[in-house]
Amino acid sequence: MSEQIERIKTLIVGSGPAGYTAAIYASRADLKPVMYTGMEPGGQLTTTTEVDNFPGYPEGIDGPTMMVQLQKQAERFGTEVRIGMVTAVEFSDEIGGIHKVTVDDSKLIEAETVIISTGATAKYLNIPSEQRLRGGGVSACAVCDGFFYKNQEVAIVGAGDTAAEEASYLANICKKVTMLVRKDHMRASKAMQHRVNNLDNIEIKYNTEVDEVLGEQVVEGLRMVNNQTGEKEDIAITGLFIAIGHKPNTDIFKGQLKMDETGYIITEGKSTKTNKPGVFASGDVQDKEYRQAVTAAGTGCMAALDAERYLASIESEETVVS
Ligand SMILES: Cc1cc2nc3c(=O)[nH]c(=O)nc-3n(C[C@H](O)[C@H](O)[C@H](O)COP(=O)(O)OP(=O)(O)OC[C@H]3O[C@@H](n4cnc5c(N)ncnc54)[C@H](O)[C@@H]3O)c2cc1C
Repeated sequence: MSEQIERIKTLIVGSGPAGYTAAIYASRADLKPVMYTGMEPGGQLTTTTEVDNFPGYPEGIDGPTMMVQLQKQAERFGTEVRIGMVTAVEFSDEIGGIHKVTVDDSKLIEAETVIISTGATAKYLNIPSEQRLRGGGVSACAVCDGFFYKNQEVAIVGAGDTAAEEASYLANICKKVTMLVRKDHMRASKAMQHRVNNLDNIEIKYNTEVDEVLGEQVVEGLRMVNNQTGEKEDIAITGLFIAIGHKPNTDIFKGQLKMDETGYIITEGKSTKTNKPGVFASGDVQDKEYRQAVTAAGTGCMAALDAERYLASIESEETVVS
């Protein structure tokens, strides 16, 4: 480790909608935020072509363009955006304590407040045809992309509550939804299974997996395989939704921050406060329920306000003591 140590007021980790919104609010409040973008500058939305549901864009906008605009807006008020990965953290337990954050295993930052917006990564099947057609009909977000398949036939892979929820969401929009369940039963709650079973346009295929996604530039069909008999079947679909879970990007915070059993950071009540004073979490990294750009942006705003109030309360305490 080199000897470069830098002291700052507010560090923002991650450059998705949560991080940039936190940056806009924090820089306008004169917290002089420094942001590290991580390995995916702009976050998950840079992997999608069309964002149609973010308020303020009546014609829709493509994800990468939207994220460049958010970056410019944050920089306009003085946010310093840097390329780099946070690789280790040592958070203080004290109110007013200094948090030590290592970037790229080499640079040490000392921050009075830290806003974590590292997001969550959707899990994919990782077969070549699925990877090739991501953005061409393969999606990991039914709420985001379902609308593009209105009155069309689609398939969804997954067996948990989220998969069941997304299958019912798609069933309201699409002509037919084929649901592929790897085992001979679903993991989803009985109530969710009941909901899915009661929708006429959902067909559930048990013991069934994706063999290949068909199509060159866009999804045109799906080759399914029965994992008991080895029998293959092709269906014509235009969209394939993968709903096999997300992994929150929280490995580096393990042992420091309170998390639930799946690794999402736990925040206090309706705030973005973590169990460490001066450390806040916003966006998908603390939200396994909604996972949308607008909700991530909303909690980014909250995190910056929480950080500002935290710093102000420390300053007023210092004034009283002196
Ligand atoms: C294909 C797809 C399409 C979608 N379409 C829509 C849509 O149309 N509308 C919608 O509302 N939502 C959509 N979503 C969901 C939306 O993208 C997310 O809800 C949103 O991006 C979450 O924002 P975030 O800021 O919490 O995290 P992310 O966008 O996930 O950003 C996380 C950031 O953290 C950084 N990072 C991670 N680890 C580190 C580290 N150690 N150090 C530094 N930085 C780090 C990453 O580089 C990244 O910049 C879509 C998602 C996907 C996958």
